[in-house]
Parts: sequence; structure tokens; C-alpha cells
Amino acid sequence: MVAAPRPAFWTSYLLGVVIVSVSWIPWAVQIATVEASYQGNSNKATLKTRTMAQVWTDWHTQGALGPIEIGALAVACVVILLALFTSWLFLPTIYRGGSVWTALRDAFRMVASGVGVLTALFMLLLAVITLADGVTDGDYFREPVIVAMPGTLISIVILLIWLTRAARAMGGPAVLLDANPRCEFCGYDLTHVGIDGRCSECGEATQKSMEFGICRRQSRWQKEHTFPAFFSSIVGVIVRPAHFYKCLALRVDMHRPRAFSRLNIGFIGGGAAAWIFCSAYMMGAPGHEMAAPICAAVLLVSLIAWTLLRLVGSIMTSWALVTQNLSEPLHARMVLAYESAFLWTFCVWSGLVISSFMIWGNWISSLIKGRQIHFFGPEEPEVMVFIGGNVALLLLWGWRFLIAFRHTRWSNF
Ligand SMILES: [Zn+2]
Repeated sequence: MVAAPRPAFWTSYLLGVVIVSVSWIPWAVQIATVEASYQGNSNKATLKTRTMAQVWTDWHTQGALGPIEIGALAVACVVILLALFTSWLFLPTIYRGGSVWTALRDAFRMVASGVGVLTALFMLLLAVITLADGVTDGDYFREPVIVAMPGTLISIVILLIWLTRAARAMGGPAVLLDANPRCEFCGYDLTHVGIDGRCSECGEATQKSMEFGICRRQSRWQKEHTFPAFFSSIVGVIVRPAHFYKCLALRVDMHRPRAFSRLNIGFIGGGAAAWIFCSAYMMGAPGHEMAAPICAAVLLVSLIAWTLLRLVGSIMTSWALVTQNLSEPLHARMVLAYESAFLWTFCVWSGLVISSFMIWGNWISSLIKGRQIHFFGPEEPEVMVFIGGNVALLLLWGWRFLIAFRHTRWSNF
């Protein structure tokens, strides 16, 4: 589908959108055939059953455009908008230099080609939910909602893994735009300068730029695949970004940086689940009911982390492209992978703030007693502190990307 001619591409894409938009309709109609109503405080429900045809007629008393059609249209809009947004998230992976517009178009084609996978997953999920609905006997693990929650997230994760692989294949082998030896400090072309000379632009010794290990060397994570190396790289990226990117060897394959990013996102999901489990346990939630929420938390938090990383990465890569501060698209991918370490600061901030509210209640409100102006409600200072801290981290992250791009503009290694 990625290589399909334009009419074939659009036909199959729109067909996929239509299938996804209408596939839930029979299910919704079937659900609506049984309506339960409760009288007063009694637990006994009065069941009112209708046939599927009756439901359909009841839904179309106001004309041809009933809630079902509006729902289908809304789903179609969401699918198209999400495809556009996701395409942009994959820009750093797909961009190979040259026209940004072409890269965006390629990204959209790639994402659109995933609509088949999306349809298959969607059908599978609906089938599983319907099946679970059919066999529910008050069994907690078979409740449709309990099945749907992790099921939806698993489907999204599978789709994103599929898209990432497709994007990598489309991005092709990492081609360096500029193979000339350059001064690490100013970018001057050193092709005709000897290794023992000096850069005629900035005066730095060319040896620093031309010899591996003086300026650019492998980070610890590039040399060894161990947990100490992993953690020291996380700390290195967070605490000294300028130093880290100034020393990072960039002309290496992407396996290690990708593994770094994957591990970070995986551990963040696991950490969030552990945190939720501990909090729920302390509050006395029944253990067996925690399995599904924890499974969902791992997936949801990992998804949020992935999206946040991609979102900030895409914004900053787009910005660097517009302001012409990105000389090598490959370096943007490298920066994006290593910046996954910064996600930990969001986790630490959010975790600490929410934990403090759980232990000490609305302590910020009581601290500044009566001096605040309420816009949303009594919990406002707490919400403000939580959101404000995360927004500040986001701005800091954007600035870090600029630092990273500045220190990865040229590299001989
Ligand atoms: Zn120079």
C-alpha cells in the first residue's frame, strides 16, 4: 500500500476508514436490544427486550441521520485526524533530508497503510469483548470492561510497534548527508587540512576533531550493555546534556540508542504499575482486582511516555528543520532515542507530588490558606502545582533538544 499508485492508495485507505467507522454498529445495536431498568433501591432489574430491527427503527425516528450515523462519522473523523497526527510523530524516523513535505507525505502513507492492521485488531477486540460479554457470570475477569481496558491498549501498542517497524523500513538505511571531515567546534570543512594542523576558522587543533576518543568517544551505554551503564547514561543525559551530546559518537548504528529508549519506556511503565500497586495496597484495594488495572497501567503509562517523547521530539525536529538547525536527520533520531531518559523527571515529579497528596491530603491548600483565588475548585493549588511542574519540565525538555541539536551538528565519528 505504501508503494501503491495514488488512486489505489486512497481507495484502500478510505475503505479501511469506512470499515473501522461502521464495524461497531452491529455490536452497539445488539447491546441495545436489552435494556435494564431499576426501580427504586431494589437490585432487581426489569428487562425490556427489543429486536435489532426495532432498535434500528427507534434510533431513526428523527430522520435518516440517527445517533449511529453521527457516531460513525465521528469515528471516521477521529481515525483520519489520528492518522495525520501519528504521521507527524513519525517524522523524525522517516525524514532523510531534502523536502520535509515529501517526508510528511511518506509518513502519512505509511500510517495509512496501517489501517488494515487497525481494522484487524479492532475486529478482534470487538469479538473478544462480545465473547466475554456472552460468558459473564458475575466473574470479575470476564466483565467486558475489564477485557476492553487492557485489550484496547494492547491493540494500540501492537499497532504502534507495527508502524515503528514500517517507518524504519521506509526511512531506509541511515545515510549521512555530509561525509566530509568537519571541525567539531565550528563545522569548517577539514578535507584539506592535516591532522596536526589547526582549523583555519576557529583555531582549534584538528586532531581533536579528527581522532576518535579525544572529543567524540563512545558513551558507556554504547560500549557495554549492562545495567550500571544504562543507569549512568540516564544520569549523564539528564544532568549534563551538553557534555553528553558533545562526547557522543554519532556515526554508529541505531541499535543501542533504540534499546536505550525501549528500556526507558518499559521501565517507566513497570515503575508506574509498581507505584499504583503499592498505593492501592496501602488503601486496602482487593488484590485480585488489581491485575487488570495494573496491566492497563503498564501499557497506558508506557504509551503516554512514548507519545510524549515522540511529540516533543517531532515539535523540536520540525522547529530545527524550519530554522535550518538540523544538518543530519540521523542525529535527530539519535537525540530522540537518548532523550527518552528525560522522561524519568516527569515520573519522579508526578509520583512525588501525587504521593504527597495521598499521604498529607491537600497540604498546599492548607499551607497557603485562603490566599488563593479559586478558578476550578478547592483542589486548585494542588492541580496547579502538578500541571505547572510538568509544563515547566516540558519547556525545559524543548530547550534540551536545542542544546542536543547544537552539539550534534557535526560529527566525524
Ligand atoms: Zn573550527
